[in-house]
Amino acid sequence: MNLLPFGKLPAYKPRKFVPQNIDLGDWSQIAPLFDQLEQRAAQCKSAADLERWLLDWSELTAALDEESSRRYIAMTCHTDNPGAEKAYLHFVENVEPQLKPRQFALEKIYVAHPLREKLPQPRFRVFDRDVKNHVELYRPENVPLETEETKLSQRYQKLSGSLTVRFRGGEKTLVQMGRYLEEPDRPLRQEAWELVAKRRLQEAKKFDGIFDQLLKLREQIAKNAGFENYRDFAFRKLGRFDYTPEDCAKFHDAVEKEFMPVIRELQAQRRAQLDLDKLRPWDLAVDPLNRPPLKPFAEVAQMVSRTQKIFDRLDGNLASGFQQMQDLRLLDLDNHKGKAPGGYQDTLNEARLPFIFMNAVGLQRDVETILHEAGHAFHALATRDEDLRAYRQAPIEFCEVASMSMELLGNEFIEEFYPTDMVGSRCRATPDAQQRVPTSDANRARRVHLEGIVGIFPWIATVDAFQHWVYTHPDHGRVERVAAWLALMDRFGGDVDWSGHEEARAHLWHRQLHIFLHPFYYIEYGIAQLGALQVWANSKRDKAKALNHYKKALALGGSRPLPELFQAAGCRFEFSAKTIQPIAKMLREELGKL
Ligand SMILES: [Zn+2]
Repeated sequence: MNLLPFGKLPAYKPRKFVPQNIDLGDWSQIAPLFDQLEQRAAQCKSAADLERWLLDWSELTAALDEESSRRYIAMTCHTDNPGAEKAYLHFVENVEPQLKPRQFALEKIYVAHPLREKLPQPRFRVFDRDVKNHVELYRPENVPLETEETKLSQRYQKLSGSLTVRFRGGEKTLVQMGRYLEEPDRPLRQEAWELVAKRRLQEAKKFDGIFDQLLKLREQIAKNAGFENYRDFAFRKLGRFDYTPEDCAKFHDAVEKEFMPVIRELQAQRRAQLDLDKLRPWDLAVDPLNRPPLKPFAEVAQMVSRTQKIFDRLDGNLASGFQQMQDLRLLDLDNHKGKAPGGYQDTLNEARLPFIFMNAVGLQRDVETILHEAGHAFHALATRDEDLRAYRQAPIEFCEVASMSMELLGNEFIEEFYPTDMVGSRCRATPDAQQRVPTSDANRARRVHLEGIVGIFPWIATVDAFQHWVYTHPDHGRVERVAAWLALMDRFGGDVDWSGHEEARAHLWHRQLHIFLHPFYYIEYGIAQLGALQVWANSKRDKAKALNHYKKALALGGSRPLPELFQAAGCRFEFSAKTIQPIAKMLREELGKL
């Protein structure tokens, strides 16, 4: 039984190295291919031989990636099918653990290879730099420490995931409680917010304890690898060759200077619309005009056809890419029984085709998600001609430019979801409309989106600056840590009244999973959003030109360093006030129109 939403996919290229009929779930069939690659490396006589070797290795990696993706997709589409789960777990438990050391062995062989320096440049520059970095950072003594780190991360996730509260006669997870913050009834919002805050605070000592241990471990990992502190280690580990901690500090300063005034204006408007003296933490997610949620579509088929119309209006190439995904059934978007929650875009690496998974239920958030994931899918389609597997994927700072740009560019045609003839009937229901009241559902959707973008920058700066402080002050105590966090909340928190909830404010970072699980990985979203906003600004001046740049940059995949990818997309890879100031100005103007 085929558990995949799609049928047989056209092969992009016939295999040259991996046997046609191999079972990629059977390690005993895979291992000989790694043996062959190890032996063949020594026989390479020329740079061309080494290049052929790299492409064969790429082909094997892509085939294994696709096998893993197929099993993952089948499982997430059918969580109620034990066979699908078994097949996925078989791969995770029997193939992946064997795979990792064999892949690493090939990386070491490559880095030590005498012909490596003869490979054509700049073609292999980024690949070479990344593999060398990976090999150089490896320390056998860090392996048990990293296992310990993973265990502590699991403890954090288990603790966070286990928290529940009793609310309205039932037990609710903290995630489920989130939706009550959108309720118009203010006392109810307050009750829900306070219950959650109190529940988290009950575990504050445990969260701090887990973090203290993580900090010690990470400090040791960095020392073992020869770094002065964990921050410097993390920068190398994340492959940050093109920006420094000082650049991040400039980003924090520019967000404070350029974005905080916009945030304060938006907060003042919200306060006025809600008719409040002060905004409290439970007043930030509710619609300030108490309107019912937007309803962009009723059926998933409508969501797809309207999204297609948006791309038809935006760009012919992108439109045909999205159409191709429909034709090949590479979209699984409706919320049906047995489906895993959430959404993702994955790439079938051998067919070189993207797949999008979602649980659409008819909310504006679904429209943002499909535009976002389509941006990632366009990226995958744009790199199909690249034979080196590693180059079919860009660094995350640029992957998110592809997806976030598509949200902004797609929103220009969001009327496809909110036909203008509906404007009158809905919006004249608020006759005392103030100047800034959205004039249509389309504009309301745009406004929510832009407010979300503006609002995320201070939080990114807070989370990032906090980690810079924490890992460069490794001997700090909990009191100093709270003080450092609160200083950042003062800089980036805006005009929200937390009185009576000072403890909750002091420990707010406990809920940010990245701080525990993925240290330093967060500013990427800020960097990418700056790129996406520049693409959008360019499109306002010259849409065709901006889209051409966008498509060209996507086609480069991961073959160039970040500054070159940004440049190809028509943006600056720079995140001080020089870049941020005009962006903040544009956002203020755009919000003023909505
Ligand atoms: Zn994304």
